[in-house]
Order: sequence, then C-alpha cells, then structure tokens
Amino acid sequence: MTTLEIRDLHVDVTPSDPDAEPIHILKGVDLTVRSGETHAIMGPNGSGKSTLSYAIAGHPKYTVTSGTITLDGEDVLEMSVDERARAGLFLAMQYPVEVPGVSMSNFLRSAATAVRGEAPKLRHWVKEAREAMTELDIDPSFGERSVNEGFSGGEKKRHEVLQLSLLKPKIAILDETDSGLDVDALRIVSEGVNKYSERENGGILLITHYTRILRYIKPDFVHVFVNGRVVESAGPELADELEENGYERFTSAVAK
Ligand code: ADP
Ligand code: MG
Ligand code: MG
Repeated sequence: MTTLEIRDLHVDVTPSDPDAEPIHILKGVDLTVRSGETHAIMGPNGSGKSTLSYAIAGHPKYTVTSGTITLDGEDVLEMSVDERARAGLFLAMQYPVEVPGVSMSNFLRSAATAVRGEAPKLRHWVKEAREAMTELDIDPSFGERSVNEGFSGGEKKRHEVLQLSLLKPKIAILDETDSGLDVDALRIVSEGVNKYSERENGGILLITHYTRILRYIKPDFVHVFVNGRVVESAGPELADELEENGYERFTSAVAK
C-alpha cells in the first residue's frame, strides 16, 4: 500500500523571459492518492493542472514555495527526478523530448534499469516488451524508432502507456493522456491504464480537461481544479455533472 500525499502545495512558475517575475500558480493544493485508487483531476484550461504534474515531477521551472509532497512519508521534494522514478512515481511527461539516435527499445530498457536498479536480462526484456506492445496494439517496428521522433500525438500517448506497463510504478500521474486521440486509440490507451491499475494495484492521478476519457477509465474520486486549487472533491457522479454543466458553477464561485 502506497500513499502519495500533497499538502497545502504552493508553486511558482518562472517564465522564460529573464525580466519577468515568477508567477504564483498553485495556491494550496491538497490531495491524497493511494494504491488502487483512480483520481481524476478536472478543470478549465490554465487552472494549473499541468503545473501540478510538473511540480510532482520536479521540473526545474516550477518552484515549490510552501507545502509538502510525500510518498509513504518520504519527502518527494528532496528527491532528484531519478529518485522520484525509483521511489515508484511515474510522470507521463517525464520524457517528452525527442531523442534522435536512441531507439525506443533501448530507451525503455534503460528506463526499466533505472527504476528496477538492475538491467533486465536482454532475452527476457525483448519478450516482455514485445508482449506489452502487442497488448497495446503497437507495431513491433515501433521499438526500432528513435524516441518520440516524428511520433504522432496518439503514438506518444501509447508510448506513455507502454512505459506504464513496463515500468510498473506505484503511483502514475497522467496529464491529458486523452488529448489528440481518436476513439480507437483512446479505448486502447484506456484499456492499458485499466490493466495497469488492476495488475499492479497502482494509484492513478488522471489529469484531464474533458470528461470523455472517463467513459473508459472509471475514477473512484473526481476533483475539480480551479485557479490553482482543488475546490471540490466527490465520487464519479461529479464527472457527470461537469459533463452536463461545465465548470461555470465552480469558476464563478472562485474570486480571481
Ligand atoms: P492547465 O494545465 O490547467 O491548462 P497550466 O498549469 O498549464 O494549466 O498553466 C497554469 C497557468 O500558468 C497558465 O496561466 C499558464 O499560462 C501559466 N504557466 C504555466 N507554465 C508557464 C511557464 N513555463 N511560463 C509562463 N507561464 C506559465
Ligand atoms: Mg482501481
Ligand atoms: Mg495542462
């Protein structure tokens, strides 16, 4: 049983312009995600959802000014990005960059090595990776391509879920996993996430703007995120309400 606990988290983002002041984006986020639980964070564009995932990932542009993030009581904010991964956190945007010359297969094996603490035996690895790719309906030639080079939006998302199934994290944070997916790809990616949840009893933090992925991935908890904070938490019925009425009720209640 693993618990990711976020308490009163405040985060500033440093704009690329060196003259600009840091911007206060997260304004006291409270959230707890345990093994086996699926949490959906939903909120309007610009409310700070991605800032939350970058802060958990340890992205250097995002400065935690106060509050805590712990994983089973261990201080995540003290950990390097690699240590976070080894502790069992998975952040889908962790490797968004193109890495020409590094094949997907090698990339995934070194990621698995970093997380497991030893290199998987090549023979086992090839089999493991092939099975995971088949399950996600990923063409075997995918393994030979350079990391993210020329990947379509849908391929990047499948790659994220492939990492989930191979790296078996304790808690996975998936930011806009549904964006850019057609209905078939959405179904396959969702099935991959559901299998991870069932097999590994993983905890999932699913960040999304749209309710449509929640037809495939059933959350146990839904949180509404507005203006840098969780403003309401409830069960899956809250997603239905959001689908019907949007965020109006919540945005109008929050003073900017
Ligand atoms: P969401 O994911 O909910 O759409 P974001 O976390 O991406 O929201 O952004 C929240 C706010 O922070 C937005 O107003 C956005 O413009 C601002 N922001 C995020 N990252 C940066 C950045 N690197 N530089 C400047 N502003 C940023
Ligand atoms: Mg579950
Ligand atoms: Mg975002």
